[in-house]
Amino acid sequence: MKKHYYSYNQYLRKTFGVRVHRLSLDAGFNCPNLDGKLSSQGCAFCNNKAFSRYTESKRKPIKQQIAESIQFARQRYKAKKFIAYFQSFTNTYADIQTLEKKYNQIKGFENIVGISVSTRPDCINKDKLDLLDKFSKDYKVYIEYGLQSVHDKTLEKINRKHNFKAFKDALELTKRYENIHPAAHIILGLPGESKQDMLETASTLAQMPLWGLKIHCLHLVKDTTLAKQYKKGQIQLLSKSQYLDILIDFLKLIPKNLVILRLVSDANPSQLIAPKWLNQKSKVLQELDKKLEKQDIWQGELVG
Ligand code: SF4
Repeated sequence: MKKHYYSYNQYLRKTFGVRVHRLSLDAGFNCPNLDGKLSSQGCAFCNNKAFSRYTESKRKPIKQQIAESIQFARQRYKAKKFIAYFQSFTNTYADIQTLEKKYNQIKGFENIVGISVSTRPDCINKDKLDLLDKFSKDYKVYIEYGLQSVHDKTLEKINRKHNFKAFKDALELTKRYENIHPAAHIILGLPGESKQDMLETASTLAQMPLWGLKIHCLHLVKDTTLAKQYKKGQIQLLSKSQYLDILIDFLKLIPKNLVILRLVSDANPSQLIAPKWLNQKSKVLQELDKKLEKQDIWQGELVG
């Protein structure tokens, strides 16, 4: 069945011609929304332990993480090439020398073909982009900005501690670098957002200079502000069918050439509180594919 959206796997195949796997790295960065610079509470949905494989005391050196992950992905996924993905916390939140030292750890692994850096839009500047741009001589370079919603009222509610303008500014700066591919992270189902609000996020982002989008359904992990609110009955989560319904309309509104990095997130089962359907990722994606096929809906079909 032909995919009705431009999946990340399709992009990787088209770009590199072989099976490529992203190596998720925890390079020991912090986050200004956790270390007290902006706040010490973090975003209301964030418990970095839930998506990081390495706790503070057990964090392995970056080169060791890379070597072990390559070995694992070769055996498990038959991957041939790799993208080093600086994923945990805020991966541009340090001085240039520290960033360079950490990013340089990927050098010397001959099958690494790309570097991807996940960060906050308020933690980027020209010097940091210049540094990433230097990597584009030898690697494909990607930057992922956590945004979650284009609505400032929502960003405030979830304690992001930056507004939509910060994202627009980051993207304006990034677009000067033709070899840096920018993506945004979006969450559907955030507290207080209607379907209309979420679709406004889609149509707003459709106008922006983005290469990719990572879309998640709001899920709750232990020890987060939203998990506490959920237990008190103060917030509701989307059901699987509500999520798929919104997602389908969302996909119609975003350009065909935007790479969809993810549509259903992974959560560590020992940390996940709800919704439990999240951990049936492949079933959910199959269900989405069937709905798109049956209704003959395609990514970008409403983009003029
Ligand atoms: S910016 Fe990222 S790492 Fe920092 S608190 Fe928010 S989700 Fe967590």
